[in-house]
Amino acid sequence: MIDLAIIGGGPAGLTAGLYATRGGLKDVIMFEKGMPGGQITGSSEIENYPGISHEVTGMELMENWPEQSMRFGMKHSMDEVTRVTKRDDGIFEVSVMGKDIVEAKSVVVATGSTPRRAGVEGEEKLFGKGVSTCATCDGFFYKGKEVAVLGGGDTALEEALYLANICSKVYLIHRRDTFRASPITIEKVKNNEKIELILNSGVKEILGDMMGVTGVVVSGKDKSEKTLDVPGIFVFVGMNVNNSILLQEDGSYLCDLDDNGNVIVDLKMKTSVKGLFAAGDIRIDAAKQVVCAAGDGAVAGIQALEYVND
Ligand code: FAD
Ligand code: NAP
Repeated sequence: MIDLAIIGGGPAGLTAGLYATRGGLKDVIMFEKGMPGGQITGSSEIENYPGISHEVTGMELMENWPEQSMRFGMKHSMDEVTRVTKRDDGIFEVSVMGKDIVEAKSVVVATGSTPRRAGVEGEEKLFGKGVSTCATCDGFFYKGKEVAVLGGGDTALEEALYLANICSKVYLIHRRDTFRASPITIEKVKNNEKIELILNSGVKEILGDMMGVTGVVVSGKDKSEKTLDVPGIFVFVGMNVNNSILLQEDGSYLCDLDDNGNVIVDLKMKTSVKGLFAAGDIRIDAAKQVVCAAGDGAVAGIQALEYVND
């Protein structure tokens, strides 16, 4: 049996592991289905992580985090967790895809969030063939070409700016005439001559053939309709929390969630279940920032240490 299972290797999970092992926990495994680093590794520029005064990419920001966390004994298991349950004797069972169940005295859930789909016609069929949710990953395919971006939050506007550096033109389609993004980012977008704003509008359909996206049908609130002949569209319409590992066989969740599926925690990152902690984007009222996820992870790591030692 291990002391602590950490599910998710983003900023929250990595920091939880750092604090728990450096504080003395011996058997700590971080389950991360991909490479550690989390969703921020898909970001093209970060300028709000404290202590880093120059712009860095997400990859650059996260480069040294896994090594630092593992230096104090945390192990990385490159596996997907499918479910976490708690037995009557207080021990957690972590179900790992294709492997035996792992028993753990405590668990930190730090599974973060994933990009939401807009739900428009053609989106699912053409996903990965011109429809993307990662500008850093796919932007280069559209070098010198025109692309569309859907959304009005920080992600949509920041990634539109990134794409404007590579592409000949970026159509930014947003359903309202005001943005959710931070004022400084909105200002940069409005001043970028390669970005054309298409406001009060949505995407009606993404057109394509065997080769991929061929265009995007845009419809306005005023019932106008036009087709943009673009080979790519980037969809940034928010994030869904990854809470499926908490779903139990009987359809209930292991711990309390709010109506949007966020895990309810207190200031110590304690969930409604003893020994189960949640940190980062998955918890209620998350600011959805790397620095906050890391802070949550530190709190959860310290609390797991205290719980196991008790
Ligand atoms: P995540 O980073 O989402 O990490 C969760 C990890 O858990 C993932 O690696 C995932 O693979 C893993 N996982 C999920 N389910 C399982 C499972 N069942 N089994 C095993 N592993 C699993 N924040 C800022 O502060 N500044 C920015 O400039 C900024 N820019 C951003 C730009 C973009 C494009 C995006 C998408 C986000 C940005 N953010 C930014 C937000 C920031 O990335 C998140 O708030 C932060 O990454 C949350 O960290 P986390 O550890 O909670 O979750
Ligand atoms: P977000 O803030 O939730 O914004 C989503 C945007 O998509 C909104 O503008 C929304 O429109 C629009 N939208 C939602 N569903 C839609 C649909 N079906 N069709 C068309 N448009 C739709 O999401 P986000 O931009 O991904 O950001 C997520 C979190 O991460 C936020 O808290 C954000 O601040 C944070 N983040 C921070 C940074 C940074 O600090 N630099 C960078 C990226 C992300 P409405 O506005 O009309 O609702």
